[in-house]
Amino acid sequence: MGRPEPTQMRVLDRPLTCVVCAGDRFTERSITIITSGFANSGLNKSGQAVTCAACGYIHQFVTGSVTPG
Ligand SMILES: [Zn+2]
Repeated sequence: MGRPEPTQMRVLDRPLTCVVCAGDRFTERSITIITSGFANSGLNKSGQAVTCAACGYIHQFVTGSVTPG
């Protein structure tokens, strides 16, 4: 397992740009978002974390609407 190559991402068919540095390359992974106040309770939402390859800012989404490309 290596590090994933940073790629462009799209949200709702628009190119995602970093809110901090306006970069357009990201790595993506799935995450659990603690919405219930308890980790591992089974009540939390799954989501996506998209990390800017340039500055490292993490953009979080609950909807799963981020797609590579
Ligand atoms: Zn950035």
